[in-house]
Amino acid sequence: MDFSFTEEHILIQNVARDFAQNELLSGVIERDEMQQFPDSLVKKMGELGFMGIMVDPKYGGSGMDTISYVLIMEELSKVDASASVIVSVNNSLVCYGIEAYGSEIQKQKYLTKLATGEFVGAFCLSEPEAGSDATSQKTTAIDKGDYYLLNGTKNWITNGNRADVYLVIAQTDKDKGSRGINVFIVESGTEGFHIGPKENKLGIRGSDTHSLQFNNVRVPKDNRIGEDGFGFSFAMKTLSGGRIGIAAQALGIAQGAYELALKYSKERKTFGTEISNHQSIAFKLADMFTEISAARHLVLKAAWDKDQGNNYDVSSAVAKLYASKVAMKHTVEAVQIHGGNGFVKEYHVERLMRDAKITQIYEGTSEIQKIIISRSILRD
Ligand SMILES: Cc1cc2nc3c(=O)[nH]c(=O)nc-3n(C[C@H](O)[C@H](O)[C@H](O)COP(=O)(O)OP(=O)(O)OC[C@H]3O[C@@H](n4cnc5c(N)ncnc54)[C@H](O)[C@@H]3O)c2cc1C
Repeated sequence: MDFSFTEEHILIQNVARDFAQNELLSGVIERDEMQQFPDSLVKKMGELGFMGIMVDPKYGGSGMDTISYVLIMEELSKVDASASVIVSVNNSLVCYGIEAYGSEIQKQKYLTKLATGEFVGAFCLSEPEAGSDATSQKTTAIDKGDYYLLNGTKNWITNGNRADVYLVIAQTDKDKGSRGINVFIVESGTEGFHIGPKENKLGIRGSDTHSLQFNNVRVPKDNRIGEDGFGFSFAMKTLSGGRIGIAAQALGIAQGAYELALKYSKERKTFGTEISNHQSIAFKLADMFTEISAARHLVLKAAWDKDQGNNYDVSSAVAKLYASKVAMKHTVEAVQIHGGNGFVKEYHVERLMRDAKITQIYEGTSEIQKIIISRSILRD
């Protein structure tokens, strides 16, 4: 076993850390409050290679490995989880989906722009009646010969009003169940495609989340990804990698809160001494350090599995389940260590606590991760 990072890993970690501290930190409170994330910051992330981290350089990507991806995700998420979810969806779900399963034409037309940040992508699986139960797709795409006719509603779509390219999962043949589902590339601005109002959220408020409406949208046949009926497998395979990104996001949120709590505990005095000298505070910090370290190992193990070509369905579920639990638990503790100051925006920990919650919900809730894990261990 080799637990060391390469020089390239350390370099990219430092680049991401500098970007997060120098460019994301100022304004993060206002972005959260205003529910905004400027295009200029997305452009900068594109210039740094963060929008197509693992994409082959021949398609404009950075050609890095999954370990690099999680190192970048952790650094961005320590400061701004709204920034990191834009990166995560674009990388794990959209770029990966097109690179792994798309046609050469689709890669040339879309991936080359998505990988550089010129385009932003969205992944559209969830519906009002299909969240955890993703096979219950009500959105339909009817084969009309040269094109598919798309009708339906998608819910909770990250980058909903920002994206140029939407990967939309839809039922093409109800009788075939999950084998009658396909995935289509839909361009923004296509006739009949409407974007609903922005959701007013608890956390990751800088990230825009919208419902989408498709009314008789014509999708060219060439925009279907993979063989007929591949859509559900596509969604499950891409989400498996997506969970590594969200696990890294949770890890970053936890680490960010821990670093703030550690610093504050050495500054704040009560009863004539720094609060870090009170054992109950010191033990909270010890628990944070221990459990965040464990989460980091699980996240890196899942990333390593993907880089090695191993199956990562279970290791990504384990990493997401655990890292999100640690993020939720220890952001609450970070607020507690800050006392009253933890309850106001200037100290950042209340935002991290709000941001942590989503990591237990999207890309499969914690309950769904437990289904994946328990099915696997009971089958073996
Ligand atoms: C901010 C945000 C961004 C999102 N971004 C995207 C996106 O970009 N693209 C996209 O497609 N989706 C996105 N989602 C949707 C997200 O993936 C779903 O909300 C999530 O999968 C849960 O689905 P649901 O909300 O329908 O909850 P439900 O499926 O209704 O679940 C409700 C509760 O029941 C539990 N539950 C359900 N079934 C079972 C079961 N079999 N056993 C045990 N417990 C169960 C769940 O764990 C949960 O606790 C986003 C959601 C949010 C809030």
